[in-house]
Amino acid sequence: MAQEKDSKNINEDKQEEKTEKKEETVEKESEKKEETSEEKPKKRKKFVFECTECGACCKRSFPIYYEDLKRWNLDQTFPRVFPHLQIELIPPAGFQISFKKVKNDAGEEVCPFYTPNSNNRCGLFFSKPISCIAFPLGYDKSTNRYYIIDKSCEGLGKGTMTREYLRQMRENSQLDYECRIRTSNTLPILQILFMQFFNQQSQEVMESLSPEDREQLEKILAKSKGGDKDVAQNETKEDK
Ligand code: SF4
Ligand code: SF4
Repeated sequence: MAQEKDSKNINEDKQEEKTEKKEETVEKESEKKEETSEEKPKKRKKFVFECTECGACCKRSFPIYYEDLKRWNLDQTFPRVFPHLQIELIPPAGFQISFKKVKNDAGEEVCPFYTPNSNNRCGLFFSKPISCIAFPLGYDKSTNRYYIIDKSCEGLGKGTMTREYLRQMRENSQLDYECRIRTSNTLPILQILFMQFFNQQSQEVMESLSPEDREQLEKILAKSKGGDKDVAQNETKEDK
């Protein structure tokens, strides 16, 4: 009987040992699996891009940077772009300078410089906004990662990507990021730049006028100032 009991205990011990071993193997296997998945991170898709000039990105809203305005001021593009600039309210972040869109033949809102029937579809081809040069690659400094701004861009996956071209695109997207940050800090300076342009324009207009026209204009200005004074004086009298 005792022998029977002993053999029963031994059998139970063996059973337990087996179960423990089984559990150990499962644990080891799962560890192995984890190790393998750590060893092989998900393969990231290679960034391949060649613009097809479809013009889809010329319908988006994008920011104009302080650096764009400075460059346009130097390369004489500013008078061309100035009538198309606007300051847009972008909730909740704040303001952005952008181009006022125009309607194309299909009634879609597009960039005023998009010319679908010309060879260089961008009217600012030689001095494109930084945001357009960087598109469709974006950069985020906090994670030091590049990302696709718009996955529907037709040029993605097209053509072949050389090292040099990839380096250039990365540089452009980093520049885009830095300019975005800098522009939001320089809105007061931008206001000064706009005022300088207005002053320069009015001086040029004044210089182009004939002496008679200038005299007339000065009379009108004097009258309007006098008018303002009269109104102010009348208001003061009424107040008394
Ligand atoms: S959407 Fe893409 S492919 Fe089309 S014009 Fe813009 S960058 Fe080029
Ligand atoms: S500036 Fe040129 S590239 Fe940029 S949206 Fe306008 S037309 Fe397109």
